[in-house]
Amino acid sequence: MKIKSIEVFVLNDKLDKPFYFSQWSYSERKICLVKLSTDEGVVGWGEGYGPADVLAAGVKLLSQYVIGMNPLDNETIWDVMYRRSLDYARRGILVAAISAIDMAVWDVKGKILNVPVHQLLGGKKRDIITPYATGLYFREEKNLPKALADEAIEYKELGYKAVKMKVGMTIEKDIEMVREVRKAIGDDMELMVDSNHAYNLREAVKLSKAIEEYDIGWFEEPVSPEFYSQYAELRNATTIPIAGGECEYLRYGFHQLLRSNAVDIAQPDIAACGGLTEVKKISTLASTYGKEIVPHSWGTYIAISAAMHFISNLDNVPGRMFNSNFWMEHDRTDNDLRDQVTIPDFEVKNGEIKVSDKPGLGVTIDEDAFKSFCK
Ligand code: CA
Repeated sequence: MKIKSIEVFVLNDKLDKPFYFSQWSYSERKICLVKLSTDEGVVGWGEGYGPADVLAAGVKLLSQYVIGMNPLDNETIWDVMYRRSLDYARRGILVAAISAIDMAVWDVKGKILNVPVHQLLGGKKRDIITPYATGLYFREEKNLPKALADEAIEYKELGYKAVKMKVGMTIEKDIEMVREVRKAIGDDMELMVDSNHAYNLREAVKLSKAIEEYDIGWFEEPVSPEFYSQYAELRNATTIPIAGGECEYLRYGFHQLLRSNAVDIAQPDIAACGGLTEVKKISTLASTYGKEIVPHSWGTYIAISAAMHFISNLDNVPGRMFNSNFWMEHDRTDNDLRDQVTIPDFEVKNGEIKVSDKPGLGVTIDEDAFKSFCK
């Protein structure tokens, strides 16, 4: 059994209505998908997180070293890719390219062995996980706080038990938006905020203090991912849990994040941090620090499904008899690539997801939609 081919695709779609966050505006969605085929005709899909064209070049570079290898040997394949990239790109986009190929390897491996990825990871420790809606981005509105509050209510009506909103505009505007959203959703829905490293430490402390009264589930990327000690200082200055890690790579990067006492919740992106092979190691490392993991995902249902399998296998640290909550990021922003090209084997019902037991990642590709977005 051998890997026969690795094809890479860039898909894009213009958005009807642009939206923005603290760093830039989005007018299109663009993703890099990987299709891995074996000599026996088994096909697996993977996805990378990051600028799609650069990712595609990385996947092309690494593919040549992987073709001919046994698709069951995910760690051996990973090692080959890692050694080929280490000298030039210890962090960043080439690691995301490794992640995309690695994700496709796990999908294929599950299909060959006829087991779901959560079983390959070691077993399903929970059947039910809780998606939180990611949305509430900035956009041109006469009354943005009101528009965000209305959007949050839509998620609540769909059954979501939590919603994450953007902050990072100005401290004053952030406070107003958070206040309006909390007022709209009431006290029985979890609310998280994410500034995408918009602030320096002084500003992040000021904003945290001001929104503590709105019962914030976590403050994500409050300061620059470069400033581990500022994360730690902020943690000591606020009662709001601090989250981060979507710009972090490999077990080595996460080790630095964890030993710096930077976060309460680590957020590796499986499509960027090194894939399923590496995130399994990152989660083991996090468990030795007693830290929670809530993976970041902002892509199609290929990446979201990889997160679902991984979350269902996560250790419960320290563990207890009664169910604890395991969050899964469910991006709800406008994305036809996610909604039309990839069909997941789960749905959100009463704010919960029942973990898929289909072989591999359990994702179906709509071939017609795929072709229409493939340019
Ligand atoms: Ca984020």
